Amino acid sequence: MSDNDTLQRFLFEHTPIRGEVVHLDATWKAIQEKHEYPPLVRNMLGEMMAAAVLLAATLKLNGRLVIQLQGSGPITLMIVECSNAQELRGLAHWQSLPDEGDLMTLAGNGKLMITLDPQDDNERYQSIVELKGERLSDALMNYLQQSEQLDTYLWLAANDQRASGLLLQKLPGDKVTHDGDSWNRIITLTSTVTNDELLEIPELELLHRLYNEEEVRVFEPSPVCFRCSCSKERVINMLRSLGLDEVKSIIADEGEVAVACEFCNQKYAFDSVDVEELFVSSTPSGSSSTRH
Ligand SMILES: [Zn+2]
Repeated sequence: MSDNDTLQRFLFEHTPIRGEVVHLDATWKAIQEKHEYPPLVRNMLGEMMAAAVLLAATLKLNGRLVIQLQGSGPITLMIVECSNAQELRGLAHWQSLPDEGDLMTLAGNGKLMITLDPQDDNERYQSIVELKGERLSDALMNYLQQSEQLDTYLWLAANDQRASGLLLQKLPGDKVTHDGDSWNRIITLTSTVTNDELLEIPELELLHRLYNEEEVRVFEPSPVCFRCSCSKERVINMLRSLGLDEVKSIIADEGEVAVACEFCNQKYAFDSVDVEELFVSSTPSGSSSTRH
């Protein structure tokens, strides 16, 4: 199993069906190095990471896609963000876990929120659906059905080594050709895929195995990586918005003001000298370049 961290798009010739397959290796290991997750939480987080790449690619968003699960069960929070450059970060919070359990057991009567956060300060779009289904893929398909109204199928799998996903989507419009039953046939073929196959077989080989009777066109694969969008600049802006008095009182109590990024564990610390400088030099450096 070689590391690749790629998204592979494909389509079925003469049909309105397109697909994507993603494998996360180093990206997924980078996330697991930041926090240690129990296997049940880890696998669901890995599935959400794979899903975020697949959905961000179908939405062709110029900005960030954020998938957030708010649970009332053992898993209380899970967030994954994917940028249009296919840079990912994510984290999960949980309490005491059962030995096993489906989505509803793990997350309870939770909510799934999907936010499209464009880079150019255009309208931010958020939609919320109730968590439903046995697996995260069911809940996401339910979301897609309600909000996108596109026929979309998702298969997701993760273990400690890799997170993988496969998405099929039927494009809107009656672009039906001589092959009107292609959608059902291709869904049936894809439904034979096992978690192990999804995790272990390289993308092109997987497509060949599943669709050897179909006419599949594959595009250039594109890379995916771990990258956190936190920055010193963002933290500075946050401190400035708190105001000098507030920041000084934190320093009086703690000796410094420190902010740690929960996604990547990066710590940003400022002592009293740093803080004086921050506020002296706070001529409105109002460039919006802090937004990544
Ligand atoms: Zn960070």
